[in-house]
Amino acid sequence: MITVLVSGAAGRMGSEVVRAVLAEDDLELVAAVDPAHSGQPIGEGTTLSYESDLASAIEATRPQVMVDFTHPSVVGGTIATALAHGVHCVVGTTGLPIAELEALASNARDGACLFMAPNFAIGAVLMMRFAAEAARFMPHVEIIELHHDRKADAPSGTALRTASLIADARTTVPAAPGRETEIAEGARGALVEDVTIHSVRLPGLVAHQEVLFGGQGQTLSIRHDSIDRTSFMPGVVLAIRNVVHHTGLVIGLERFMGEQG
Ligand code: NAD
Repeated sequence: MITVLVSGAAGRMGSEVVRAVLAEDDLELVAAVDPAHSGQPIGEGTTLSYESDLASAIEATRPQVMVDFTHPSVVGGTIATALAHGVHCVVGTTGLPIAELEALASNARDGACLFMAPNFAIGAVLMMRFAAEAARFMPHVEIIELHHDRKADAPSGTALRTASLIADARTTVPAAPGRETEIAEGARGALVEDVTIHSVRLPGLVAHQEVLFGGQGQTLSIRHDSIDRTSFMPGVVLAIRNVVHHTGLVIGLERFMGEQG
């Protein structure tokens, strides 16, 4: 049995995580933290209520793993608190630079692992893998990421990760044309590691990304769509089961996809 605390537990992702943890026989939900809903019952067949203070919830329940889906402005603090108590972290909140994650992981107590995945959907991990493979042969590429209109960061963590994987895989780096002829600023998107990223924000969307390659007389599109947030839950559960066997900073669900769990 792995004991789990969910941080951001009343949010769109956090509430799915609560349901996913409660549904697994080998996972036990011991606490759910969300200051905006402090004292309210969680429901979902558990007698637990949302708590407001992470440190006291950890001290009272001693979870093995904290799962965090909160906000870029608070996640650094929640990770620091959990790692200082020797609690393994499974982090889905995007927006923290790698250097900050490295600094947080270096202060972990008792060998606790900091695991972060920019995308917990297995299909999205495959989309990134296939995009990196394609970039070796088709270096002209742009990313279009599409998310709901309340997303806190742009570009998405998935788009940044995809750009980084493409940058590592490409052997030639073509210039991104058209910037100098932009009539409206930003029309050609953001340039990240020499890869152009366009961010779309609209109500009705969940999380989508298309990686569009161009070559002589042809294009190749690699697209992934998360149609609802349950798409992320098999990946979150996989991460909870694996994080307890690791230490230090681990990034990307692909690191656990070959492992049991
Ligand atoms: P949300 O706004 O619906 O939920 C965030 C919750 O965190 C809210 O209920 C809020 O009250 C709570 N919160 C705020 N401060 C807190 C604190 N200090 N401690 C505990 N809880 C706190 O947001 P969301 O749509 O669920 O997204 C959360 C994060 O997850 C975002 O960064 C988003 O980009 C990311 N995300 C990641 C993935 C992935 O696969 N990695 C997928 C979807 C979303």
